[in-house]
Amino acid sequence: MNRSIATLFDSRATSDGDGVKIRRISTPRDMQTLDPFLLLDEIASDEAADYIGGFPSHPHRGFETVTYMRKGAFTHKDHMGNEGHLKAGGVQWMTAGKGVIHSEMPEQNEGSLHGFQIWVNLPAKDKMQTARYQGFEPNEIPEIAIEGGGIARIIAGSLLGKEGPVINVATAPSYFDISLETGNTIDIPTTEQHNSLIYLYKGRVTVEGQEVTKGQLAQLTPGNQVTISANTFTTDTEAAEFLFLSGEPINEPIAHYGPFVMNTREEIDQALSDYRSGTLCD
Ligand code: MN
Repeated sequence: MNRSIATLFDSRATSDGDGVKIRRISTPRDMQTLDPFLLLDEIASDEAADYIGGFPSHPHRGFETVTYMRKGAFTHKDHMGNEGHLKAGGVQWMTAGKGVIHSEMPEQNEGSLHGFQIWVNLPAKDKMQTARYQGFEPNEIPEIAIEGGGIARIIAGSLLGKEGPVINVATAPSYFDISLETGNTIDIPTTEQHNSLIYLYKGRVTVEGQEVTKGQLAQLTPGNQVTISANTFTTDTEAAEFLFLSGEPINEPIAHYGPFVMNTREEIDQALSDYRSGTLCD
């Protein structure tokens, strides 16, 4: 059965880190609605003042942060002394597990920066695992031409016969970055029980006759396929560009406070106490 649009969410302008201007998708029922996805942030600016402060040292526990850059670059440093350079077109899939303390800072003081960070939840049994990373260079992410015009980059999951490099994630996610030429249509097969989302960052698309515009996130109805068309009702000639996300819902209670996402209030209190005493990541 074809998926259609269940709910549209508008991103809102806000800031995080040291004054970094972002657009954020967060949902009314806190973080439960998009299960297993918790949050989606987009950074898009040509002005250094909007991003130069970066995200200085801060902790995470209980979930995964996934950073994907389209323009510009970030340096990542963590409490274990790891240092990574995330380039345009590259991805970092960080499983914070029990704990990571890290900084994420722009590698430039002028020019364009465009990227996304999504938060993906972990089931209770995996929340206290040892932190781990999957990092991939731009050329390690398969790029496939879409028949009729467009390009799909496969970060996780599989599409058009290619598999993304990110593997062994608890929620078996698909993560595609798709540029679809005006008037063209793509069919994306989906796992029936997965929660599937489309985030538009350029142009417009239609799904079963309903439109999604720039800065909106569409949560789809259940189904085993979605048909997405670019710019059907506009005179735009540029490609529509969007992220496609799909993952297995976890269906567990969520307790959230700042950079910690656990199942209970007590586990949040424990995370705060561990962070204050310097044992978050031990
Ligand atoms: Mn972080």
